[in-house]
Amino acid sequence: MVVHKFGGASINDVERIENVAKIVKNNVQSPCLIVVSAMGKTTNALEKIVECYKADQIDEAFHLLEGLKSAHYKVCDQLFDTRSAAQLKVELNDTFVEIEWMIEDSTGDPYNYVYDQIVSVGELASSKIIHATLIANGINAVWQDARDVIKTDNRHRNASVDWELSQDLIKKHCLTPLKENIVIVTQGFIGCTSENFTTTLGREGSDFTAAIFASCLPANSMTVWKDVPGVMTADPANNDQAALLSTLSYDEALAMTYYGAKVIHPKTIKPIQLKNIPLYVKSFITPDNHGTEIKSLEIELRYPPIIVSEEQNIFIRMSAKDNTFIREQSLGLIFSKMDKFGLVLKLDRNTPNEFLACVGDPYNQIENFVIELNKTFAVRLEKNIELLTIRHGDESSIINHLAGKNILLKESAEHTLQYVLSTGF
Ligand code: ADP
Ligand code: ASP
Ligand code: MG
Repeated sequence: MVVHKFGGASINDVERIENVAKIVKNNVQSPCLIVVSAMGKTTNALEKIVECYKADQIDEAFHLLEGLKSAHYKVCDQLFDTRSAAQLKVELNDTFVEIEWMIEDSTGDPYNYVYDQIVSVGELASSKIIHATLIANGINAVWQDARDVIKTDNRHRNASVDWELSQDLIKKHCLTPLKENIVIVTQGFIGCTSENFTTTLGREGSDFTAAIFASCLPANSMTVWKDVPGVMTADPANNDQAALLSTLSYDEALAMTYYGAKVIHPKTIKPIQLKNIPLYVKSFITPDNHGTEIKSLEIELRYPPIIVSEEQNIFIRMSAKDNTFIREQSLGLIFSKMDKFGLVLKLDRNTPNEFLACVGDPYNQIENFVIELNKTFAVRLEKNIELLTIRHGDESSIINHLAGKNILLKESAEHTLQYVLSTGF
C-alpha cells in the first residue's frame, strides 16, 4: 500500500481540490491512505481565533470564526450540488460548533490545550471536504479520524507519539479497508491523548503524520504533493538559481530539513528511513513529472551546493553571574530549560566566557526561558537571526548572500558550513 499527503497549498481552492481528485484517480495506485492538511492558510486563521479568545476578545473570535466557516461553506457550494453541499455543511458545522462551545465559555483553560482543541478543526474540516470530493469522483473512500489511531502524550502543541499504541490502532482501523481497496482519508497534524483530548504535533506536522502512517502499516512508498517540482538546491521562492534534486539519500534530506529547508517537516525522515520506505516529493501542478525520490543509497551521491536559509531564529549569549565557567552542570540546566519551553536548538558553541546558541522559538517562549535562567546567567538575546547552511559547497556559493550581514557565529563540519547572521548593525 502507499501513503499520499496533500498539504495546505494543494487544496487551497476549488480547482486545486478537484485537481487532488484527478491525481488520486490518475497518479495514485491502490490500496492507499491519504493524509490532508488544513486548506490554505486555515491554521493561521485558527491561531488568530485562539489569540482573540485568550485575550478575551470574544466578539472578534466569533467574527473570525464566521469568516472561516463561510469560506469552507463556499467551497462546498462550489464543489457539489445543493443537496450534497447542504449535507456536507451540516457535517462541517458539527466540527466548527466545537469551537463555538469553547469560545462561549470562560477562557480559563491553559493556552496550549485550547490551541489544540481549536486549531485541529482545520484538518477535520478539510479532510471531510476531500473525502466527499473523492466519493463524488467515483472513488471508494472512507473518512478516518486520526485521533482514533494517533495516540500521544499531553504535551499540547508539541505532542509526542506513543508509537506502540498508535501502530496497533492504525493496523486495527486501517488494514481492513486497505485490503478491500478502499481509500482512507485522514488528517495530518492531529492526535489524541489517552483521556481523549485532541493534541497537535507541531506546525507543519502533516508530513510527519503521513510518515507515522507509512511507518506503522508499513507502506511501500510515501508521496508528498507540493507546489514546487520537488526538493531543490535552494528555496525556489527566493532563489532563482534553485535546481531540482531528482534523488537524495535519507541522510541528505534529513540534514536539509533539520537545518530549515521548509519543503518537508524534519521529523518525517527518520520513521520512514528506519523502515526503508522511499519518499517521493512531487508537484501537484505537474503530477506526471518525476519530482524527487528520497531513499537509501549504498554510495552517497555527489551533490551540487545546497543552500538552506532559515530566518527568525534567536541568538542567545549567556555568561555565568559568578566566576565559574559554563560547563557540564550548567549546560544540563540550560538544555533542560530549552526543552521545557520548546526551544529548538540549531547551533551552539561554548567559549571560556560565554555559551552561544542559535535557537528557534516556535511557541514564543523565549522571554519565559530568560526569566528562569536570569538568576544564574546574564542572558542577552538578538532576534530575527538567520541560520544559513551550505551543504557540499564553500563560501563562494553564498558570497552574495552574506553581503551586508554580520556573521555572529560560523561553524564547519563534514559537508556542512553554517553561518548565524544578523542584518542589524
Ligand atoms: P505544504 O503545502 O505541504 O505545507 P510547504 O509550504 O510546507 O508545503 O512546503 C513547500 C514550500 O517549501 C515551497 O513552496 C517552497 O517555497 C519551500 N521550500 C523551502 N526550501 C525548499 C527546497 N529546498 N526545495 C523546494 N521547496 C522548498
Ligand atoms: N495545518 C498545519 C499547519 O499549517 C499542519 C500542516 O500543514 O502540516 O501547520
Ligand atoms: Mg507545510
